[in-house]
Amino acid sequence: MSLPQPPRRVVIVGAGIVGLSTAWHLLKRGVRVTLLDREPIGQSASCGNAGLLSIGHYPLTRPGVSWRGLKWMFDATSPLYIRPRPDWSLLSWMWNFHWHCNQRHLDRCMAVLCDMGFKTLSIYEEMIREESIDCDYARDGWLDVVLNPENMEAAEHEAKDLVRYGYSYRRLTGDELRKRDPIIRDEVAGAIHYTDSAHAHPADFLVGLARAVATRGATLRDGAEVVGFERSISGSVGGVRLRGGEIVEADAVVLAAGVWSDGLGKLLGVRIPLMGARGYHIQLRDLPALPSTGLVLHETFIAATPMRNELRLAGTLEIDRLDQPWRRERLAMLPKGAERYLKGLEQAKTTAEWAGYRPCTSDGMPILGFTKAAPGVLIAGGHAMLGMTLGPVTGKAAAELLFGEKPCFDTTMFAADRL
Ligand SMILES: Cc1cc2nc3c(=O)[nH]c(=O)nc-3n(C[C@H](O)[C@H](O)[C@H](O)COP(=O)(O)OP(=O)(O)OC[C@H]3O[C@@H](n4cnc5c(N)ncnc54)[C@H](O)[C@@H]3O)c2cc1C
Repeated sequence: MSLPQPPRRVVIVGAGIVGLSTAWHLLKRGVRVTLLDREPIGQSASCGNAGLLSIGHYPLTRPGVSWRGLKWMFDATSPLYIRPRPDWSLLSWMWNFHWHCNQRHLDRCMAVLCDMGFKTLSIYEEMIREESIDCDYARDGWLDVVLNPENMEAAEHEAKDLVRYGYSYRRLTGDELRKRDPIIRDEVAGAIHYTDSAHAHPADFLVGLARAVATRGATLRDGAEVVGFERSISGSVGGVRLRGGEIVEADAVVLAAGVWSDGLGKLLGVRIPLMGARGYHIQLRDLPALPSTGLVLHETFIAATPMRNELRLAGTLEIDRLDQPWRRERLAMLPKGAERYLKGLEQAKTTAEWAGYRPCTSDGMPILGFTKAAPGVLIAGGHAMLGMTLGPVTGKAAAELLFGEKPCFDTTMFAADRL
């Protein structure tokens, strides 16, 4: 299933990392692009995330995760919290998720995700270089910081598994780690340094990329909420309808609206079952020292990323209906959990708090492809906690699919109609 001919005008719904990356690749091919977002750039998950470009990272669907999720279901302060509720879409998502938490599926996922990893960083570097984007990008890996000595072996085992995909790592003792990063507490046992990854200031990157696509000729509109789609007599989609009634016509529509693609898909008669896994961040300044690179605090799953002269603590995974009031106790878990690993947090000042959604599929893999129910629409998203990392390469493959070309990675597992 593809377009009858390469599109000359494309409308992209959603100016997050996926939408903007797709726009950039299409503009390079001479396509007229209109990017529509209901919000100004700077609010989305693509701006509030931890900024770890963690290539070779595992998806959510790992052996044992579904059982742990079930156990944690009744504990609102667990790292992964699913609020129990009688909801058929949640139950079927959870059942499918459980079904995919096995080694065989993980191996299949990793073969593709690891291939995307190195490609996405090359694209990041190309975008940053060509567009002069100032976003604090550094390709210096990330550290899996382990508090309890008995967890070091398991942490190294995870890293060792990636060597077969061409990734490398280094094991650091607690002393080696503190020599490199004096902010680490004496109690910390050590770390695994995933040396191939990078980190960046996500909002600065996104704003830079938005400026670049506008300079390259894209029409970028915020306050433009898509509420419907226009179909031709043949059934193919030829545009979108905005709140207020305006129609924006196109030869193809890219649906890159993060977790909200699910609701928009329903308007098209397409099933895109996504769960929004909410996470939070808290931004701190005036710390005595900053870590040299991005950290993940192993036992708590909290990320601590240096962003210019501040530290962003980000994490927690909470599955509930969208747009529920913030759970302040979960936000508070970030500094509380990080204090066990990092010195000086008590005296830091909070400069920002934020919450946003990771768009999660039940099989842990993103979605990228056309759908039978809505010819002319390409769906792109569902990257869960890997969207910032994999957005640029997803955008490249999206442009290739729109032009009827073989994508730069194997998208078989990404089929839009599989769920
Ligand atoms: C706490 C946290 C930490 C994270 N850390 C990392 C990390 O370190 N590394 C990593 O790789 N990933 C991370 N992620 C995941 C990553 O942020 C997401 O996977 C990614 O940003 C999703 O990008 P997207 O473009 O698909 O969607 P989004 O960024 O959500 O963008 C979707 C856009 O669509 C717009 N939209 C929605 N509906 C409509 C409509 N009807 N009309 C018009 N516009 C609409 C929205 O306003 C939004 O701007 C993290 C996420 C969270 C929450």
